[in-house]
Parts: sequence; structure tokens; C-alpha cells
Amino acid sequence: MDTSSHIAVVEDDPDISRMMVSCMTEHGFEVTPTTNGRDLDRVMSSEKIDLVILDVGLPGEDGLSICRRLRGKSAVPIIMVTGRGSDTDRIVGLEIGADDYLPKPFNPRELVARVKAVMRRSTMSEQQQTDSARILMFEGWKLDLARRQLFDPDGEPRSLTSGEFNILAIFCNNPRKVLSRDELLDQLHGRAAAVFDRSVDVQISRLRRKIESKTKDPSFIKTIRYGGYFFTPQVTVVHEN
Ligand code: CA
Repeated sequence: MDTSSHIAVVEDDPDISRMMVSCMTEHGFEVTPTTNGRDLDRVMSSEKIDLVILDVGLPGEDGLSICRRLRGKSAVPIIMVTGRGSDTDRIVGLEIGADDYLPKPFNPRELVARVKAVMRRSTMSEQQQTDSARILMFEGWKLDLARRQLFDPDGEPRSLTSGEFNILAIFCNNPRKVLSRDELLDQLHGRAAAVFDRSVDVQISRLRRKIESKTKDPSFIKTIRYGGYFFTPQVTVVHEN
């Protein structure tokens, strides 16, 4: 892992913010704390940010709105920090494109573990993309692995989070084959599956809505009994320069 990774934190509680900054700095990350969306925008426009940690409960624009706005223009990994017991915020956070969430209260070790797991996922997908300049086609859809872009059958680009993209890439590399949940998680990020485990189903249902909404046969990704998935389309590989 690149220890010079730069993390932006958006948290209005000074104690929690200090705790986050100090534990991540200890682990070699560069951290820029901010307290609201406007400051985050300013930081993101002047610095290369590798990951954003976003509190949901903020004065002014809340974290969910900031997340939605960020997703409209960037694939930067996002970890939402949610208040105690606010399950709705967690689900909504993942629905609108956060890569993971962390409920308060949390301990610093937990935060660092989540940050590393999300970073590993995004670094791994960058490596996968250099492996291959392939373009995969299924049912008129085009998945460009090198540019990490998805185009619908009308040729329109469709936005995916980095987590959704990684899942779709695995499905396209394993078409018409039952993938158990464990196999899917292993391919996503090696053995350190526990963190992602809870959000994989949410990400798959979000991916389904995105890729199945424009087709007549709405079952590209079938759920198999006892926990597995089956990607139904035929996939063809196209090489483009
Ligand atoms: Ca707060």
C-alpha cells in the first residue's frame, strides 16, 4: 500500500476528528481534516485525495448529500461514518455510492482497518486495469476495463462506484458460472473479506438496478440458493487500441 495516500476527513466533532487524524497519521497516511462540505470541495479541487471519510451528521449540508454530490463527479472511495443505530443512513449511504460505512462509536483500529480494506480494493482494481486493456461486451453493454467505464446498449456512459465496477468486472470475467459469495469476495479483495461482506449484497442490488433497468430481460445477475450468484449473459472480449 502506498503510505503517502491522502485522506480527507469531514467531521464537525473536534474530538472525533482529532482521534481520526492522529490514528491515521500514525499509520502513515496524510490526513486533511475539514468540518463541512464546502471545505471538502476546496480541498478536493486543490489536492489529489485518495479516500474521503464522511460524517453523516454535519451542520448545513449533511454527509449523505455530500456523498451524492461527490459521486456525481468522482469515483474517489468514500467511507461514511454514521450515528449510533441509524441503519437507514447506512443503507442510504451505500445506495448512493459510499464504499463502506462505519457506525459510531468506533475505535481507531477499526477505522484504520476499514480505510486499508477500501484502499486495497481500489488499488487492486487499478492493478487489474493495467493487466488488461480489454473491452468486454454483454447484451449490447460494453465494459471498458482499462478506462473503467460502462456503456449501455445506446452507447451512453453509465456511472458506477468503484465497488460496483469491480463486481461487474468479476461477473464479466466469470460469465455463466456459479460464483459462491466466498469466491466473489476472494476475487474482490483476497482473504480480508469481513469488512466488505456486509455491503456486497447492497452493492449487487444497486448494480442490478443500474444494468438491468434498460433491458427487457431483467435478470443478468441471478441469485443462487445458499448464497451465490450467476451472471447470465454471454460475454465476448473485444480488443481495442
Ligand atoms: Ca457530526
